[in-house]
Amino acid sequence: MKLRIAIQKSGRLHDDSIKLLKECGIDINNGVNKLKTEASNFPLEVFFLRDDDIPQYVEDGVADIGIVGENVVLEKNRPLRTVEKLGFGKCRLAMAVPRSMTYNSIQDLDGQRIATSYPVILGDYLKKMNITAEIHEISGSVEIAPGIGLADAICDLVSSGSTLFMNGLKEVETILRSEAILVANNSLTPEQEQLLGKLIFRIQAVKKAKNNKYVLLNAPNDKLPEIIGLLPGMKSPTVLPLAEAGWSSVHSVLNENDFWDIIESLKAAGAQGILVVPIEKMVI
Ligand code: ATP
Ligand code: MG
Repeated sequence: MKLRIAIQKSGRLHDDSIKLLKECGIDINNGVNKLKTEASNFPLEVFFLRDDDIPQYVEDGVADIGIVGENVVLEKNRPLRTVEKLGFGKCRLAMAVPRSMTYNSIQDLDGQRIATSYPVILGDYLKKMNITAEIHEISGSVEIAPGIGLADAICDLVSSGSTLFMNGLKEVETILRSEAILVANNSLTPEQEQLLGKLIFRIQAVKKAKNNKYVLLNAPNDKLPEIIGLLPGMKSPTVLPLAEAGWSSVHSVLNENDFWDIIESLKAAGAQGILVVPIEKMVI
């Protein structure tokens, strides 16, 4: 028995999806132009598909699970289970208008034409905001629509905003924030659920490791209480004596969010020779 996962064949999510599986210790050889492949050391079959098709394939049970942007899942509106957010493929679905247009609020789009590849999400949003607009669905290069007179505004995916800028547009509303997610079919067998559980366990260990760093430092013994007080550690910091009398080595794990603040305080408290090392996997 194998778990079948659908990932993007090529495009923005392909490389990070493969990388995540590798970091989970799953070996796959992803030869170009392959439709599917098998992992050599985990009961996993990998299907390479267009991202738009992934929700449908997972719903139909052709694949059991899939990695796809939240934006695509919401647009396709299929009954799927979101299992885990994956932390890559981050972008936002945003409204943009020509830079020359005076824009005060979404009311300014009432009665206007909006081009998008996300008619479902946009339709819901406009309804919620009580706006009536003409939605023009186009499948690609949405950003050129205002320039060629097809629409007054667009609703499209943005990450840096440089595509909008190059096309003379300005971003005026954020409709949705999105990242890649792991989705699953709603009726997996108990065996498949068990394999999925194993995979999730590994993904969470990889994600936690990315958000944390291993820190080693030297401290004079009289400063230890203050330094230990600054360090959370997984349980509590490890303290080992140095060969030089009166000194100790302190080891701990720090979260990325408060990392720099704590490093500064440690230095101020008398820590020396601070080393920061990446963590590969982390299981709490
Ligand atoms: P496919 O050939 O598989 O249909 P695609 O052209 O529809 O690919 P990509 O452009 O590769 O899709 O984007 C895949 C996903 O990457 C998007 O659905 C979105 O979740 C995410 N993404 C992240 N940043 C961006 C961005 N700046 N523009 C578009 N998508 C982005
Ligand atoms: Mg697509």
